[in-house]
Amino acid sequence: MDTITDPTRHRILTGDRPTGRLHLGHYFGTLQNRVRLQDIGVELYVVIADYQVLTDRDVADDLTGHVEELVLDYLAAGVDPTRATIFTHSAVPALNQLLLPFLSLVSVAELGRNPTVKDEIAHSRQSVVSGLMFTYPVHQAADILFCKADLVPVGQDQLPHLELTRTIARRFNDRYGAGVFPEPQALLSKAPLLLGTDGTKMSKSRGNAITLAAGADETARLIKRAKTDTERHITYDPAGRPEVSSLLLLAALCLDRTPAQVADSIGAAGSAALKKVVTEAVNDYLAPIRARRAEYARDRSYLRTVLREGNERARAVADTTLAEVRAAMNSHY
Ligand code: ATP
Ligand code: MG
Repeated sequence: MDTITDPTRHRILTGDRPTGRLHLGHYFGTLQNRVRLQDIGVELYVVIADYQVLTDRDVADDLTGHVEELVLDYLAAGVDPTRATIFTHSAVPALNQLLLPFLSLVSVAELGRNPTVKDEIAHSRQSVVSGLMFTYPVHQAADILFCKADLVPVGQDQLPHLELTRTIARRFNDRYGAGVFPEPQALLSKAPLLLGTDGTKMSKSRGNAITLAAGADETARLIKRAKTDTERHITYDPAGRPEVSSLLLLAALCLDRTPAQVADSIGAAGSAALKKVVTEAVNDYLAPIRARRAEYARDRSYLRTVLREGNERARAVADTTLAEVRAAMNSHY
């Protein structure tokens, strides 16, 4: 990221499922990078992946509510809708027309091997695995490639999907015409896999997340419950002590220090002291974001305007790309 010399030569696409409010894993895993790059002048597209909710849900419950909560989180974190395009997948039909040729470029075996999909199936509450579960990474390739993004700030779980997007771009270009699509790069942060209070990936669906919108007391309660280990002396050792190390990383990111420095400042004081440090660091860091969020939440109609304008911009870009794809595939009628 520091190697970006001309921000106008890059374009970012990234996004989230509207399955709940954004949490610290999102913030330090991708959202902070989105805002940083937007602020140095890189064009930013943010997809709210509403069709993707159906990968592991029977119905997309309270979709409108969840979508608006995501927009609130984006605005509070500093995404600027006058520069960035925030849109919902379902409002851009051309994305689904890109899905079909893209599906023809990947094999069933490749889709079945995806480790993130396997992990999500293992954690899913559904007894039946739908076709969408196996094909949503291709859907996501359409989300990324329609605007010819070259940078995708994501958490670690997205790396197999990004690899598939690169494969699809390469195969499309090989088969139908060089240079239609770029091969986008994943952009990982210092926290590509923040753990939740139960010691597994912090996730909206796992009930283990600390949301950006949570109150200070709720945050303290959640961190108090977080899994640690029995060793008293606090050390930073991501491989050996993942839960303690994830908490140290969280505090370090909020305090702009290294996790080892935070560990040294706690030393033998143990996990209760660690949790106190983390709680204060998180609450102080999030205070201005939470205040901005509460301010934006007073005007729901503004959120809908942001989406309407974002959807319009995304539709125009997607239509242009679809026309190019159809021409490359010799559909001239
Ligand atoms: P769900 O449980 O509904 O799948 P989620 O918490 O996994 O929700 P997503 O909407 O699937 O969130 O992911 C959005 C983006 O946030 C992706 O780029 C993902 O890699 C990133 N992300 C999600 N959780 C974390 C985490 N714990 N650490 C780092 N990045 C994360
Ligand atoms: Mg997820």
